[in-house]
Amino acid sequence: MAVRTITRQELEEQSIYKQKVRSALHIYDKKPLAFVHSYGCQQNVTDGEKIKGMLEEMGFGFTENTASADFILLNTCAVRENAVDRVFGNVGALKHLKKKNPRLIIAVCGCMVQQPETAKRLKQSFPFVDIIFGTHVLHTLPELICRCIFEGGRVFDITDSDGVIAEGLSVKRESVFKASVPIMYGCNNFCTYCVVPYVRGRERSREADKVISEVKELISSGYKDILLLGQNVNSYGKGTDVDFPELLLRLDSLDGEYRLEFMTSHPKDCTERLIDVIAESKHICHHIHLPVQCGSDRILKLMNRHYNTEHYLHLVDYARKKIPDLNLTTDIIVGFPGEQREDFEQTLALMKRVCFDSAFTFIFSPREGTKAAEMDDPVPAEEKGKWFRELLEVQGNCGCKSYQKYVGKTLNVLCEGRGRTSEEYYNGKSRQNIIVDFSGDESDIGKFVNVKITKALAWALIGEKTD
Ligand code: SAH
Ligand code: SF4
Repeated sequence: MAVRTITRQELEEQSIYKQKVRSALHIYDKKPLAFVHSYGCQQNVTDGEKIKGMLEEMGFGFTENTASADFILLNTCAVRENAVDRVFGNVGALKHLKKKNPRLIIAVCGCMVQQPETAKRLKQSFPFVDIIFGTHVLHTLPELICRCIFEGGRVFDITDSDGVIAEGLSVKRESVFKASVPIMYGCNNFCTYCVVPYVRGRERSREADKVISEVKELISSGYKDILLLGQNVNSYGKGTDVDFPELLLRLDSLDGEYRLEFMTSHPKDCTERLIDVIAESKHICHHIHLPVQCGSDRILKLMNRHYNTEHYLHLVDYARKKIPDLNLTTDIIVGFPGEQREDFEQTLALMKRVCFDSAFTFIFSPREGTKAAEMDDPVPAEEKGKWFRELLEVQGNCGCKSYQKYVGKTLNVLCEGRGRTSEEYYNGKSRQNIIVDFSGDESDIGKFVNVKITKALAWALIGEKTD
């Protein structure tokens, strides 16, 4: 198996299928509607936008309501057990709709489908699901729908692959000023707890020129917040002359009023050069999401993370020195197999030492096919739950403290819509990527405005618009 770029000819073939579906949809009295829901990470959300782009070209309109849909697609996540359970629950709840509308087509795709056991359960327990397809054949959705309509019966494509790169798919973006741009796909790191390398294939970077021209086009169409995506953006372009810091430099030099964000950084590949580029940039957010996962070197080794706490703390100190208003966020897993109380206490100590602005915390969830799922896991669930609550309390104290420093300061905020704390406010994000609610007006939406901060909450700032 090898990573493959989808050819122009293959995409043209899909255009023919799009036409066929388009003509088949004429039997509906009104424009047929599609309901598309993406679970999980931002990468999945961008896949959802490509799916919507293809559906629009096939003649579908969109609805937020499954009851009025003629086509329902659930784009799934497999990263933790609870995400998978939620999808199974939601798929089950669609059965009655099929009875009401026999023409309804139901499709399930995404990471869950790439897991053999989960795919088997989907096929066997949910016979009313018409189309099931994996992450590597997303671009063939027109063909899959075509087969479903013209051949009848169920359609499965769960091709296993090291992965593909499909350029040139149309994208129906959720926002007119915020856009996500994948710069790489897949992952080679095989952290022992993680299912992503198994369901998303090998790491592959898009060509720098393709990324730059997409970003340029977005900026000239008025997009102001551009999120660069990859499972480990720091290894973008490895072995070529455009690595991640270089890509950022080139993007930062584009003309226009915009911000660049990126997700996610792996500490093993995060360099001082990357931090320097952020510090000296004009457009890059002062935010690094740097998942540490754990504060015990013994557990980090078992997780196959390839860094230790000393390296991590050096990066944190360097980044905070170079970028004094840095917003530093992280991910933590509690209860990895074999984790002892003393390992967990090292995580607590690291949390207190770093005092993250915010942390996403998870209890370890064994995933089919991963090494950690085979490891001895003697700590009972109640004990892990207790540790988890302790962790939340420590983080709660850090989060409350960290935003206080902004009170009295003026931050530049990209206004995104109505307030999160009250309908009277408008809401946006600062260059530090912090949520800000402020007194403003409707015409601020989609614009950069200056906001004087008057109050800090644990998860957001409150302020007033100034000139
Ligand atoms: N590529 C990113 C994150 C991918 S998944 C990175 O390496 O940082 C997002 C987060 O989910 C991870 O950082 C991890 O904290 C959590 N996660 C992944 N697999 C998990 C599992 N099996 N159990 C619990 N949390 C998990
Ligand atoms: Fe999963 Fe590790 Fe890859 Fe992140 S870097 S996607 S945690 S294997």
